[in-house]
Amino acid sequence: MIEIKNLVKRFGNHFAVDDISFTIDDGEIVGFLGPNGAGKSTTMNMITGYLSSTSGSVSVDGYDIFESPVEAKRLIGFLPEQPPLYIDMTVWEYLSFVYDLKGCDFNKQKHLTEVCELVKVLDVKNRLIRNLSKGYKQRVGIASALVGNPKIIILDEPTVGLDPKQIIDIRSLIRNLGKKHTVILSTHIMQEVQAVCERIIVINQGKIIADEKTASFNNAINQNTRYRVKIAGPSKEIMRHIRSLVGIVSCELHGEREGDAFSYDIESAQNIDIRKSLFRALADKGWPMLGMEPIGMELEDIFLKLINTKGGKK
Ligand code: ADP
Repeated sequence: MIEIKNLVKRFGNHFAVDDISFTIDDGEIVGFLGPNGAGKSTTMNMITGYLSSTSGSVSVDGYDIFESPVEAKRLIGFLPEQPPLYIDMTVWEYLSFVYDLKGCDFNKQKHLTEVCELVKVLDVKNRLIRNLSKGYKQRVGIASALVGNPKIIILDEPTVGLDPKQIIDIRSLIRNLGKKHTVILSTHIMQEVQAVCERIIVINQGKIIADEKTASFNNAINQNTRYRVKIAGPSKEIMRHIRSLVGIVSCELHGEREGDAFSYDIESAQNIDIRKSLFRALADKGWPMLGMEPIGMELEDIFLKLINTKGGKK
């Protein structure tokens, strides 16, 4: 179990991490989600003991990371945002070096083979790291975090810079790791935490603004209130009519045109499903609806929504 209490990191006058507290139970896969500069890396670096804190505590299975770093760090495998790979070593040489560095005491050959199999780098084990693709380099970084079989794996932005195929592979690898390890990953990509994690902690400007199971997080943000609707007919009249309907907050022309039809972005008040009444209202007027799709929320919208929901915490 990881317990973080009132953790603060100040750089000069700037609070990069501003009094955060949370607990992570064994076996959880937790996503740490926030925009760039939110304080994710700083938090990960403090949890792993790479960075000292200004105040507050981090304890890993009862060991304080700052007071008993050796015991606490032994429980953690860390993939920093920029993994410190020795690119002139082969994959095997590097992992073997990490094994020695961590002072592991297993059957080395067997353990490293298992780790390489798990992250699927066995076929490139004799290649120089410098000659590997970014996706493979990332796997080697994850492999080095796994050496020593730590209980907890912490991954800082594990898919940054990867192509879509590599992203899918690494996400599935992380889900797999979650079967045997506690996993914490940080990311600025909402789809990533939704795809991989069971729980989402949202951080913004050094503060936690949400901490939810992924399912309830999805419910909270997915109450769709915005739709893009394609309607045939006179655009000015259509907009005027839609805006007059009960529950409509706004209706703007989106601009895509198909024949005499335009697309409109329509937003309704919270908790009002406007789809049926919109359909009827347009049918009554003889304006055919040619399509309707929900407009997903962008990360920025979600932050605004969460910040507003939490009463504008700063
Ligand atoms: P994230 O990982 O969410 O992108 P970071 O934890 O890297 O965010 O950074 C949080 C804030 O702290 C940013 O405003 C960043 O500029 C600042 N920061 C991070 N590291 C340092 C440092 N070593 N010195 C000064 N400011 C820093």
